[in-house]
Parts: sequence; structure tokens; C-alpha cells
Amino acid sequence: MQLLLNNLVEKNRQWTKHGKVANYIPELGKMDSDRLGIVVVDTGRKIYRAGDYQTKLTMQSMSKPIALLLALLDNGEEKVFRKVGKEPTGDPFNSMIKLETLNPSKPLNPMINAGAIAVTSLIKGISKEEKFFRILDLFRKISKNPNLDINMDVYLSEKKTGDRNRSIAYFLRDIGILEGDVEEILDLYFKQCSIEVTCEDIANMGMFLANQGIDRESGKSIAPMHLTQIVKTFMITCGMYDASGEFAINVGIPSKSGVSGGIMCAVPNKMGIGVIGPSLDIKGNSIAGVKLLEDLSEEFKLSIF
Ligand code: GLU
Repeated sequence: MQLLLNNLVEKNRQWTKHGKVANYIPELGKMDSDRLGIVVVDTGRKIYRAGDYQTKLTMQSMSKPIALLLALLDNGEEKVFRKVGKEPTGDPFNSMIKLETLNPSKPLNPMINAGAIAVTSLIKGISKEEKFFRILDLFRKISKNPNLDINMDVYLSEKKTGDRNRSIAYFLRDIGILEGDVEEILDLYFKQCSIEVTCEDIANMGMFLANQGIDRESGKSIAPMHLTQIVKTFMITCGMYDASGEFAINVGIPSKSGVSGGIMCAVPNKMGIGVIGPSLDIKGNSIAGVKLLEDLSEEFKLSIF
């Protein structure tokens, strides 16, 4: 496995030249476009690392499945899915077009920005600080990294420039999906997206989902299995932006990508995978990361289908 991972990273690194680093959040534009790295953890607690696996990145949209899990734990399915749907959109992650055309109107799923902002608004806590701490605490637990924290530069950069998310959020309040202080909800969402991680943290989070919500060291259940199944189903149907269908065919692993170039994968009952590759394709997925996962999935027959 180790040798194969080293080879696959070097084979696929050339793809980084064919994409672009996201720069609509100015601070993300500073990432090195030629980076590519991967960490794989398996149920036998083996861990394999290759390429630029030490490069740090922010969670961005990889935070959405985890925030969804927390909102489901806090509120139950009925309440969460009153505010957000269960269907793929076929539109880009930050699109708002269907919010106005669908009737009754609600974000189509929790993996697009509109849905994720609605989900974050449901996270419980008596103050905004407590809400964020509860999110961070879950991320720390499932990544097995008690030191996770926000990257302040990325957070402030998005807070300053996030007008599209701001428009989405105000629209959501207008149609009754968001309740409460919009700026406070957005702040929480920007913070959750700015949590800084490494591939190993992402791989551990993927492993937690792959392991049906059970901590693989203590054997303790952190979330009920059926909630982690809901989360993984969204990852397969909507996790790779509007390339989710193609990714499901070519890779077949529940995965969520982020505009920082990360991909978090959960191979049910087998492994967690974390990828970094900040150079993105036109849909917003790590261009070399996707190719790397195609090869890995093919090699080890990881597709769930
Ligand atoms: N914070 C980013 C945004 O809302 C996350 C986008 C993503 O990773 O897809 O625009």
C-alpha cells in the first residue's frame, strides 16, 4: 500500500498543472497549486501517508457532513429535513437559482451552501461561542486531534468577502428557513469552514464515518449508525459538487470535497482517506485528488457499488 500510494501521488501530480487554486476567498489563493498528498487509515489502525500530506488546509465544504451530523444529533431528522431537502441540485455549490423557482422553497440538500447555512443555524448552544465550541469539539473528537482550531486569516478573509453567502442567508430568512440573527449564523458557518486540518485529520474523520459513528479506539458510539448513513448518502449523491454522479461512477466512495482542495472519503467498514490538492477543476474539486482517488479505488476495488 505504501509504495503504491507514493507512486500514485507522483503519477498524478502532473494534473495539478491543469487546474486553478480557488481565489474567491482571497486567502485561499495563497495555497501552493502543485501540492498533492494523501493519508489512508484503515480499520486495523494502519496508517499510510504520501506526498504533501503535511500541508495544512481549511475544512471549507468538508465541514458540511460533520455539521449536518451535529444538527441531526441536536434536532432529529424531522426538524432538520423540514428546513433542507434530500435531493442533488446539478447546480454549483454556491448557486441560489433554485431557491426562488422551487415551491415550496427550501435548499435542495445540506451539501450546497444554502443547505449548509440552514443546517448550521440549527446547531444548539446558549451563546454563539458555545455553538462554535460544540462544532469544534466534535471535529476534535472525530479527528483525534485535540488541537484543531480556526485559521484566523482564512476566516477573516471569507467573512470580509462572503457576499454571495450573505445574499443566500438573507434570502433564506426571507423565505422563513433561517430564524434569528443572520450575521451570527454566517459567522458560525465561516468559522466552521475555517477549521484548519491536515490530511491525517481528514482521514480520521472519514474513518469515523466509515466506522458507522463508532470511535475505533475506544469502541464507543459517538453518533447512531443510521445518522452516519444519512451523512454518507449525501456524500455519495451530492458530495462532489455537480460532478457527484461522475465521481460515484469513477470512484464510488462517499466523499466530500472543499474549495481548499481537500477531499474527505469514507469507505464503509474499511477505511478513511484524506486528500489535499489545492488546484481545482472547473466544478471545484481537486483536479489531481480526483485522479488519485480514481486510481486508488480501481487498484483496491473500493467502490461501494
Ligand atoms: N466557505 C466556502 C463557501 O462557502 C466553502 C465552499 C466549498 O468548499 O465548497 O464558499
